[in-house]
Order: sequence, then structure tokens, then C-alpha cells
Amino acid sequence: MVAVMKSLSLIVPVFNEQEVIGVSFERMDAVMKQMGYPYEIIYINDGSRDNTMKELRAIAKNNPQVKVRSFSRNFGHQLAVTAGMDIAKGDALIIIDADLQDPPEVIPELVKAWEDGADIAYGKRQKRQGETFLKKFTAFCYYRLLRSMSAYPIPLDTGDFRLIDRKVADTFLRMREHNRFLRGMSAWMGYNAVPVEYVRHERYAGKTKYTLKKMLRLAMDGITGFSDKPLTLATGVGVASLMLSGMGLIALIVLCCCSVAFPAWLWAVDGLLFMQSLTFIFLGMQGVYMNRMYDELKGRPLYIIGEDINTEA
Ligand code: UDP
Ligand code: MG
Repeated sequence: MVAVMKSLSLIVPVFNEQEVIGVSFERMDAVMKQMGYPYEIIYINDGSRDNTMKELRAIAKNNPQVKVRSFSRNFGHQLAVTAGMDIAKGDALIIIDADLQDPPEVIPELVKAWEDGADIAYGKRQKRQGETFLKKFTAFCYYRLLRSMSAYPIPLDTGDFRLIDRKVADTFLRMREHNRFLRGMSAWMGYNAVPVEYVRHERYAGKTKYTLKKMLRLAMDGITGFSDKPLTLATGVGVASLMLSGMGLIALIVLCCCSVAFPAWLWAVDGLLFMQSLTFIFLGMQGVYMNRMYDELKGRPLYIIGEDINTEA
């Protein structure tokens, strides 16, 4: 029996990257070639308004391994990567930014981890070069906040630079939720995920395409998609203030019994606190129902199969 050679797909989302696309392609193509697997490089042009598409046309013309899907407008990085997954044919898919911050030279290490049995090999940033203190600090805090809130272990200091096996990609294809936070989805899926440490470089050229607005949106997608804590927070607040108002009531009754004088408006304050608590508790309960609806709406698979033994009908 002739073993069929496995193949690789490299997915590169691009948005206004005319300054980097040429060099970036050269470096990525050289690395892909050197590994010896058949491969394709998929560019998703996320509605660029500069000459990115012109550059991509020229590259694709001379390189049959290059495929390009161009969006009608900017849909955002996470959807661009998703579109890449939709057309990728490889047995392993590698997601990488175009700006060479994630060095393509790390790809063979991801592939090695995959050959050794990893379903997901994710790049873990050991160090980030050339990024502002503010960006590094906010990223540091956010990753830790998200991890503490999320019910699934989302790896720290990890972006979307990763390799996923075909079966993981197929699971992604079944998850069509609109507000996508790919690294959270990946954590939710489970599978055998292995970190590969690397140093994140400076952007090769141009400026970040993740504006503050886009970054905040992604941060919110991470929290709202993978944590129900904001929804249930109200119940916690409600229960705490209910206890407080209960203690207040007892204190006031004791004062009455001991004939200690106190202003009558304290009754009103305690009553208000009690009513407020009820509002919070009911708000929190609504949150629980909303969370259940939200789960149904996301329409994620009920479970994901890692392996089946003797289960065929
Ligand atoms: N990108 C995209 N659509 C967007 C924003 C970014 O496809 O709306 C691409 C961008 O071209 C790059 C990758 O996503 O290849 C990561 O963006 P960037 O490097 O600007 O983000 P940063 O590394 O600064 O967080
Ligand atoms: Mg970048």
C-alpha cells in the first residue's frame, strides 16, 4: 500500500499589508518548501484598501501553491482566519500573521510537535519584542483575567499563531458562531494541545491593524463567549446585599428591644437595601436563563470525539 503524503495549509489573514506581503511571502514559502510536505499558502484579504490585493495577484500568478480569498470589506482577523480554514485542504493547518511578528522559522517546530502526536501546537510567547509597554501590560493582564473567568483553560500569552490538525479544523468548521474568539474555541474543544515557545518579533513594517476598538471587541468576545461570570455576577451581589440587609434588620430589632434610640430612617434604608437585593437576585436569575439561551444559540456541537473504538454500526 502506498502511504499518501500528508499536506500542509498555511493560513495568512491580511489587512492593508502592502509593505510586508512580498518579504513575508518569500520567508514563509522558503520555510514551507524546506519541510518537504506538499503545501498551500492561503491568503485571506480582509478588505484591504491599499495595494495588498495587487501584490497578492502578482504572487498568485507565479506561484500555483498560493490561493487567495478576498473579502468584500473588512470583516476582522478572526473571520479572515475562519475563511482560510473553510478552504484549506491540508492535513494540518497553520495560522500565522502576515507581519512576521510570529517568525515563520518556528513553523517546523509546530509541525514537529504535530508529527509527534499533538492535535494542536500553539505558539507561546516567551518574550515580545518591539511592542509598547502598554500593549504588553494590557495583554499580560487580559490573558490572566480571561483565564480566571473562563471555565476552560485558555493558555496564557498565546495568540492565534498555531498549528491545528485536520480533525480540529473540521470541528472549527462545525462551529459557526458569529462572535468568534478562536483561541477560546480551541480551548473549549480540548484535544491534545502542546505549547511551542518562541520569541515574538517586532512587526516587519507598517503599523498594527488591530485598532483599540478592534482589540476591545476581541477582548469582550473572549470574555462573553467563554465566561458566564458577568451574567451571574448580579446574583452574587444580590445575595451579599440581602445578607447585609438581614443583618441590618436584626441589629435594628435588637436596638428596639434594648430601647436604644436611633433615627427612624434606618428602617427605610434597610428596607431599600432589601428591595435592591431582590432586584439583583432576579436579574441574576434572568442571567442564568439568558446564558442557557445563549448556549443554544451558539449551536456548538454537544461533544467532540477524540477517538472511537468499535463504534461503527
Ligand atoms: N488583520 C486582518 N484583519 C483586521 C486586522 C488585522 O486580517 O481587521 C490581520 C493583519 O493583516 C495581520 C494579522 O491580522 O496579518 C494580525 O494583525 P496585527 O499584526 O495588526 O495585530 P497585532 O500583532 O498588532 O496584534
Ligand atoms: Mg502583528
